[in-house]
Amino acid sequence: MDCRYFESEIFMKRGLFRISQFTGKFIDATVERDFNTVDLSNKIYLSRVFYILALFVTLLFAYFDQFLITDPYYPYSVLTVRLLNAAFIVIALFQLKKIDTYDAYVKLTTLVITSILTSLVVAELMLEPNQDIYVQFDAIIIICLFAAPFLTATRVAVLMGIFAFISSAIMLSLKGFSAVQTQLGILAYVFAYVIGYVISIHIGFSRRLDYKNRMRLNAQSEELREFAYRDLLTGLHNRRSYVDHFAKYLDFVARSRGDDDGVFIIVTDIDLFKNVNDQHGHEAGDDVLMSFSNLLSSTIRPSDGLYRYGGEEFVIVLSQCPKAIAIQRIENIIQRLNDREIFVYPVKQLITASFGMTQILPTDDCDSATARADELLYAAKNKGRNCLVHD
Ligand code: GH3
Ligand code: MG
Ligand code: MG
Repeated sequence: MDCRYFESEIFMKRGLFRISQFTGKFIDATVERDFNTVDLSNKIYLSRVFYILALFVTLLFAYFDQFLITDPYYPYSVLTVRLLNAAFIVIALFQLKKIDTYDAYVKLTTLVITSILTSLVVAELMLEPNQDIYVQFDAIIIICLFAAPFLTATRVAVLMGIFAFISSAIMLSLKGFSAVQTQLGILAYVFAYVIGYVISIHIGFSRRLDYKNRMRLNAQSEELREFAYRDLLTGLHNRRSYVDHFAKYLDFVARSRGDDDGVFIIVTDIDLFKNVNDQHGHEAGDDVLMSFSNLLSSTIRPSDGLYRYGGEEFVIVLSQCPKAIAIQRIENIIQRLNDREIFVYPVKQLITASFGMTQILPTDDCDSATARADELLYAAKNKGRNCLVHD
């Protein structure tokens, strides 16, 4: 019996979906990889918006540099740095289209954020100090904050830590600032760094929590489907499942390429089963039903179907099968029954069954095909039972 639900509940309980409070990631590497893969298209979409905005801001900086400089000469070196950064972002935007793994995505986004931060720092060093330092470094702070959702918390911590350190070092090295200005500037970087880290952990955590709940819901609806589809006694699929699966069999029929590729339904019913119940009780009857279902299961291939249709009536579906082979397979079941393969103590009566077989036609629906097989089953009963009747 399929126990996927129970496995996944144990999966949940074992804590495989535990999220670290310090990194905002799943502790289990496989779960983390699955999560990142599922969420990848969403991340790529957000990154595209982020790259475009970063490109826009870089070009704005390139334009406004000239107004910030008291020097009579326009700083072409700074313009070069800005344009190089803009070109890099444009290339990254094209690269983003080709990304298909999470690792590649993280590498590219780390590169883009690093290039933006580096170009800001380099341009700042090239510009005359004091003029625009706050504007430039404000941008670094803002990028620190907004980059947080795009990377893992660990990467944000390392990347932003480096730039908070560099920016602070520049502030300290510049002579034009008062002690208060320097202290305020450094405090701003440290706060931006900490807030960026906290935001990325928070976002990582809530996204993963969402994923975990989604997985649980999937597992639970899978379990409900299993309950609705399974017969409790035999563990076989039930009549509801047969009706739902019928569309799949009709699909096989539509794609079949001639007589060697047919789909057959066989309705079978245990002969004189009432006697078993009457003589030996319901429990012995249940044991016979289980033995019969086990025997049928042992003849079934993965592409076939087997259902407990109701009571002591079962439906077998044989697909991608020539008619002669289908008949032979049913005759084989009849033979095994007559060889007393089913033996349930203290039942002495030979357990046999009758079979009605028909081929599913492209014009059939579940009711029409099953009714045809049912009529053939009753023909088999009338013929004296323990035999197959087909059309
Ligand atoms: P026939 O050869 O004409 O099919 O005769 P039969 O006695 O098998 O036919 P009938 O339909 O009269 O009897 C079926 C019996 O199967 C009646 C019912 O009590 C029994 N049955 C149905 N479901 C179960 C079950 O889950 N467990 C047990 N033990 N008996 C069941
Ligand atoms: Mg019967
Ligand atoms: Mg019956």
